[in-house]
Amino acid sequence: MSRLDLHLHTTHSDGSCTPTEVVSLAHQAGVTALAITDHDIMTGIPDAITAGEQCGIEVIPGVEISSMMGQSELHILGYFLDWQDPVLSERFQTLRESRHRRNPQIIERLQALGIDITYDEVRALAGSDSVGRPHIARALIVKQVVSSAKEAFDRFLADGKPAYVPRELPHPADAIQWIKEAGGLAVLAHPTWVKLAGRSLIELVRELKAAGLDGVEVYYSTHAARHTREYLSLTQQLGLLVTGGSDFHGITKPDIDVGIGKGTLHIPTSLLTKMKAAVGRM
Ligand SMILES: [Zn+2]
Ligand SMILES: [Zn+2]
Repeated sequence: MSRLDLHLHTTHSDGSCTPTEVVSLAHQAGVTALAITDHDIMTGIPDAITAGEQCGIEVIPGVEISSMMGQSELHILGYFLDWQDPVLSERFQTLRESRHRRNPQIIERLQALGIDITYDEVRALAGSDSVGRPHIARALIVKQVVSSAKEAFDRFLADGKPAYVPRELPHPADAIQWIKEAGGLAVLAHPTWVKLAGRSLIELVRELKAAGLDGVEVYYSTHAARHTREYLSLTQQLGLLVTGGSDFHGITKPDIDVGIGKGTLHIPTSLLTKMKAAVGRM
């Protein structure tokens, strides 16, 4: 049974598998087309395309941009963008630099809490310069401060916890515009994670649509059946595209597999046809 997976992270951001490994896992899972959607970076795309060509998997260039609207952190996925666009690369560079400033601040807070941890240790563990909170969580596990990534976030790293440092994030309207300017489709990721702060989801999505949003990630590893139904109906009401993905990260989210999420995810390949029609790539 052929399937899609349009939300995958690699070692180019906070995933633990290389783009080539992710493509190979997708091949084993019966995925026929996938999108690599690393955080604020698209350097993993060329390796994925090469690996995809070798095993007959279509690789769609993608990205995931974190944005902030009021108190809500919104993740905007981009698809079919020009991954070599120099303006976009520069924007991503600026976003990553802001994250680089934030990580040492998180480490300082952990140290102030009496935890023996250094930024160098976290960077060594990440294996690249693309360090995120999941790497800090992993370092805390290695140091036996916590026993799981969930515990690291619940006790220290999540919003409102003692080592939390807010990020300087773009507004979702800007993230959407950047994606559009690079020729891509903009999609709201995992709506269940969105903190609505008294608003309705449809109201929020309507506002994003006015800013250029093209679709909503309806199928997702942790969406319950009622979520999927609710989001499907929302996309129908607003005339938006439907997408789906596992949000695979490798060992940082060990219960989520490429293509099948927690085992029951199945993203129909027909969604891709509509996305291609929307972006004029038929
Ligand atoms: Zn996300
Ligand atoms: Zn993601």
